[in-house]
Amino acid sequence: MPSAKNYKKSPQVTRVYCVPGNAGMAQDGIKCIAIAETDSQELIAFAKKQRLDWVFVGPEVPLLAGVVDDLQAANIQVFGPQKKAAIIEGSKDFAKQLMQSYHIPTAASQTFTVYDEAKTYIEMKGAPIVIKADGLAAGKGVVVAETTTEALEAAYAMLCDNQFGASGAAIVVEDFLVGEEFSLMAFVDGENVYPMVIAQDHKRALAGDKGLNTGGMGAYAPVHHISQAVINEAVETILKPTAVAMVTEERSFTGILYAGLILTASGPKVIEFNARFGDPETQVVLDRLTSDFATVITDILAHRTPTLTWQTDGVTLGVVLASKGYPQAYENGKLLAGFEQLNHDTAVFHAGVALNATNELVTNGGRVSLLAMRAKTMQAAQAMLYQELKKIDTRELVYREDIGHRAATAERP
Ligand code: ATP
Repeated sequence: MPSAKNYKKSPQVTRVYCVPGNAGMAQDGIKCIAIAETDSQELIAFAKKQRLDWVFVGPEVPLLAGVVDDLQAANIQVFGPQKKAAIIEGSKDFAKQLMQSYHIPTAASQTFTVYDEAKTYIEMKGAPIVIKADGLAAGKGVVVAETTTEALEAAYAMLCDNQFGASGAAIVVEDFLVGEEFSLMAFVDGENVYPMVIAQDHKRALAGDKGLNTGGMGAYAPVHHISQAVINEAVETILKPTAVAMVTEERSFTGILYAGLILTASGPKVIEFNARFGDPETQVVLDRLTSDFATVITDILAHRTPTLTWQTDGVTLGVVLASKGYPQAYENGKLLAGFEQLNHDTAVFHAGVALNATNELVTNGGRVSLLAMRAKTMQAAQAMLYQELKKIDTRELVYREDIGHRAATAERP
């Protein structure tokens, strides 16, 4: 979970456990516990035995499995949305219907379960057009189709060939929007919305925003070339009305609401909602938080207004090191080397890592690690971080060489 390091920094916190965590976190001194993230009974037993003050449920799978509901039923304090609120991420059809009903700006769309009906709509609309599996698909369920043929193939694969199983039993067919994307996350407590600084992710695998969509190849925060007026507009027209709509629908949301937004010619619009912290945006966004993260969570759980202060000067840049081949097939178990040579001001967040039989850190996933650096400008951050990345043995790893390119261009006179 991206915020484990933030808890460790807090003077309020004496113990942090991560379930299941990873070998990199363990090296950072965070206690990792081998319990499956959806095993509510084991989680309840552990939380009770350790007398934990509260539990933060991070990822979408346990949120949608109802782990928050189960822990609450066992009288354990939990930060995170209940299953009926996490559906804002778990069903794109639900999110679109909510936005349509409450006039929250987003692309026009229709949902289909029958291929022939989807086909008629796609042929009527033409390309470019976007096809989305309704349910969770680990970031792979979205096809931005350049041609009608591509759109029909994607719809057929999801509806008829079961490409994503039950997640693709319904599809959302959405208008293609043009604009710059950014991520706006907020701590939400019912109708109360406490926004964070914005970030920009880089979803495509290759430099120049080319190649396949990934879970995210790098991010930075804040985004100085997107104005405060735009951010305010997004908070007022998107985040706040969404929080209110969820309360009205009796799906009151407590947790992190992530809005993936696109700045169109007619203002910011929603591309997607997540019911949790976004990765890799969170690592760079929380690096800007100057108030105490654990106190923020404690305050929200007590329905108090949290103190949120942010370092808004300068920038934090994060670049993802991924396994060669990601987001397609890749091999695990490759030795990680060079991290010990990094300067102290380079932050390392390990994700897809494990220990091998001889206790060495090896790759164990698509996105392996994120390296982050703070600087006064994006150009300075890029210069320093890419220099640092040269110390890493990247024979089995890849990274994008242009993370932050929009901000760097905006800085040039
Ligand atoms: P995540 O892994 O972040 O959960 P996801 O699989 O839920 O992603 P989306 O964020 O909905 O997918 O879409 C992935 C990417 O596809 C977006 O970041 C955006 O670049 C592009 N995209 C999605 N919808 C649209 C749209 N309507 N118009 C233009 N581009 C879009």
